[in-house]
Amino acid sequence: MADALETIPSSAPGNASAPNDSRTCDFGMLLSAKNLAKTYGEGDAATHALRGVTFDLCNGEFASIIGQSGSGKSTLLNLLGLLDTPTAGTALYNGIDSATITKPARAIMRNEMIGFVFQFHYLLPEFSVYENVAMPALIAGTLPAEEIRSRAEETLGMLGLDGMSGKNANALSGGQKQRVAIARALMNRPAILLADEPTGNLDTLNTNLVYDLFREISRETRTAFLIVTHDRSIAERTDRILEITDGNLVADVRNSYLADAQ
Ligand code: ADP
Repeated sequence: MADALETIPSSAPGNASAPNDSRTCDFGMLLSAKNLAKTYGEGDAATHALRGVTFDLCNGEFASIIGQSGSGKSTLLNLLGLLDTPTAGTALYNGIDSATITKPARAIMRNEMIGFVFQFHYLLPEFSVYENVAMPALIAGTLPAEEIRSRAEETLGMLGLDGMSGKNANALSGGQKQRVAIARALMNRPAILLADEPTGNLDTLNTNLVYDLFREISRETRTAFLIVTHDRSIAERTDRILEITDGNLVADVRNSYLADAQ
């Protein structure tokens, strides 16, 4: 499979020119990471988790981030998800610099643009599938109740969970629970889904199911996907692979295998 990977020239760490400057986005540019850096701690105790990562991502792009444990993948995803603040650099969504807007504006950007899926589903076990999926929207209170209901049903349908909304979350299998968590992340119709080892807890069958669903959702809704995995065979199911080593983006490759196969 390795020769199916066609290398795109990667920018040097700290170089603000994006690796995919040369290509155009069919549906517009979504995200620009510019020199993103994160240091935890200070002095002798400092950990340079991310050392200046720069890349662009288009709307609808289906990409993965790979790297060894401790290389900085989760740190990068948390910064892109605006869940954490960089020590240096910034992330732009639709050209808007997340570092220069107010905290409330950043919260709106996060809620409206970004969905997050983690390795663990973090469902509320005492609540129904519907309540788990709808809860963030119900709390936000920005949509009418009927809209939340129809959107939740539609989203559950996208994840192959039709007819499950009344079930208690506890009654589901591990694979179904993770698909409910994915539905919850898609409720706000984000422009990008950031997923951190989303199938790390699932068996092969459910892993394949989740990736097939991700692919279908990306194609149908033009949602961008950026999926962290330590598993190269999973990354090879995405169209673009970003590789992080010791906090640096060391490779940015286009995976032509799938495109060729279609
Ligand atoms: P990965 O996701 O690739 O396993 P991480 O982004 O979780 O890597 O971690 C990168 C480095 O930053 C590691 O050395 C890790 O120990 C360190 N790190 C991550 N989070 C923190 C934190 N909150 N405080 C201190 N060090 C951290």
